[in-house]
Amino acid sequence: IRSELNHVERLTLVGRMAAGITHEIRNPMAVVRGFLQLMREKSPSDMESYYRIVMEELDRANSIINDFLSLAQSGLSGKEDSNLHDVIEELAPLLWADANLRGQSVELRLCDSLPMLWLNTKEIKQLVLNLGRNAMEAMESKGVLTLETRCVCEMVELLVKDTGSGMSDIELEKLFVPFFTTKEQGTGLGLPLCLSIAERHGGSISVDSRPGAGTVFTVSFPYESREKVSTVC
Ligand code: ADP
Ligand code: MG
Repeated sequence: IRSELNHVERLTLVGRMAAGITHEIRNPMAVVRGFLQLMREKSPSDMESYYRIVMEELDRANSIINDFLSLAQSGLSGKEDSNLHDVIEELAPLLWADANLRGQSVELRLCDSLPMLWLNTKEIKQLVLNLGRNAMEAMESKGVLTLETRCVCEMVELLVKDTGSGMSDIELEKLFVPFFTTKEQGTGLGLPLCLSIAERHGGSISVDSRPGAGTVFTVSFPYESREKVSTVC
């Protein structure tokens, strides 16, 4: 499934997000309020579980605000001539540490050489980190996250592969819809952010996934059309 949004769709996306965030923040707030009320009425032995729920819901509201801010603020700083491999190698220790905690591993399969790309490296790091974290969250221990790069037909491709749960067609269709999440603590804003970052680089994201068989996200960056891309952004 190829996911691309045109300009008009992107604009309406911003409006939908504003409505969505109001709704999404109200949910955890309502839960927190309800449990605070219960805490006043119930015995101290009930407190421990209520406390945990209240903290989780506050953390969730906080994540939604953080992700939403990244989405709103991304695109503000500039692009520079960059090597995608440098960006990946800078991130690798972070991914490795995260994977290690989960009993998973990270493999890098970087091609021999890549042309320089016109990148906002801060945003590209965020994109790789989001895709990497999603991959890890979809896998049990012993899972393997692979970051691969290749150069095909005037495109530089970054593949983020996992050996995780994979997705059904229904999930695949909703992947990039803001606030779509199957995780208890998810925000559903990670992939919309990734898509928006890829598009601001003139790129696109495609997904290949089957339930139980793992997932491959492919981010494609054009490099021949660099001038055209930089005037659009
Ligand atoms: P979040 O991670 O907060 O749920 P995302 O926008 O990053 O939000 O992802 C949306 C949903 O897409 C996830 O909740 C999950 O259901 C699905 N998803 C994303 N990446 C993967 C993956 N690598 N494997 C399986 N499912 C995934
Ligand atoms: Mg995510």
